[in-house]
Amino acid sequence: MPIPSQTSLREQAARYLDRIRKSAEQLDRTVSLMEVCGTHTVAISRGGIRELLPGNVRLISGPGCPVCVTAQGFIDAAVRLAASGEAFVATYGDMLRVPGTSGSLEQAKAAGASVHMVYSVLEAMELARRQPGRPVVFLAVGFETTAPATAVAVREARDQGLDNFFVLDAHKRIVPAMETLTAAAGVSIDGFIAPGHVSVIIGLDPYEPVAAAGRPCVVAGFEPVDVLEAVAMLLEMLAEGRSEVANQYRRTVPSEGNPTARAQLGAVFEVAAGEWRGLGTIPESGFALREELSRLNARAALGVEVTPTPELPGCRCGEVLQGALEPWECPLFGHDCTPVRPQGPCMVSREGSCGIAYRFSGRGGDCCG
Ligand code: SF4
Repeated sequence: MPIPSQTSLREQAARYLDRIRKSAEQLDRTVSLMEVCGTHTVAISRGGIRELLPGNVRLISGPGCPVCVTAQGFIDAAVRLAASGEAFVATYGDMLRVPGTSGSLEQAKAAGASVHMVYSVLEAMELARRQPGRPVVFLAVGFETTAPATAVAVREARDQGLDNFFVLDAHKRIVPAMETLTAAAGVSIDGFIAPGHVSVIIGLDPYEPVAAAGRPCVVAGFEPVDVLEAVAMLLEMLAEGRSEVANQYRRTVPSEGNPTARAQLGAVFEVAAGEWRGLGTIPESGFALREELSRLNARAALGVEVTPTPELPGCRCGEVLQGALEPWECPLFGHDCTPVRPQGPCMVSREGSCGIAYRFSGRGGDCCG
């Protein structure tokens, strides 16, 4: 595919903005569109897209940052496990700094706990191979995008007899969270910019119930012009009284998704209730390891208990994740909570709304550029 020139990108952006303005005028009311994915939040903030939109079109950020939505109880369980010395905890970098009730994994590591940062689940398996006899527990967080890789690793570990590799499962399914938000009181959402990465796996069909509930969904790519086109498509649907699922990201997302990846997922995980920060327990919003794979399940095999714990006092990530609060409306934002001293996961993660707002909105001081 030829790379578009800056001029043609500018022309595209101007065309989409024109469509956006026309539909916004027709709508003649305030419209709130939620971008579900943290990568979209980055693109929107980096591209200054909010500032380009008509005054009656709001973009609000949703629960699409995998680290941010991981429940406090899961973080606490991981910290306890690492501090116990009974297992080596392997996890992605963003997870290390999320504050738990009694400190973060990074702080536990500094105090001597066995915590290892990995870039992939395969690296966690390699860690287990290098330390036979020492349990290695991989913290399996993330949406349908990353869950297939965990599924492949679990099958490999089983087939290879890697008996010191375990998974603490907390993978999530995004659509039940969108449905929960659609029905929630106090959060007004007229349509969704649906996540491109997740949709590569799940395709378009799973969004149909959301559209049927009156919230159109457009799967979008991650360039600023992609987001602008998705906004134009959503506003046109709303102005015409339609609520459908559409695909702006056709160059990457096939409408049927990736059946092979879904088959891998289905062979290893079953759909289960998921525990979300800010949203609580949502039926069918998680993946749990199948019973026959309990040998690799840290909960079953090592007795790791994940129990709900209250979210940190003062931190309002739960409301930020629901789009009910802008990051800078949190009293701690930019003062007591910064990327250097985060008080909640939304400030820690690269895809967290608070961290993104701090870096790009001009409200966070001058730490990060
Ligand atoms: Fe939580 Fe910090 Fe965001 Fe406030 S600014 S909601 S404390 S992460």
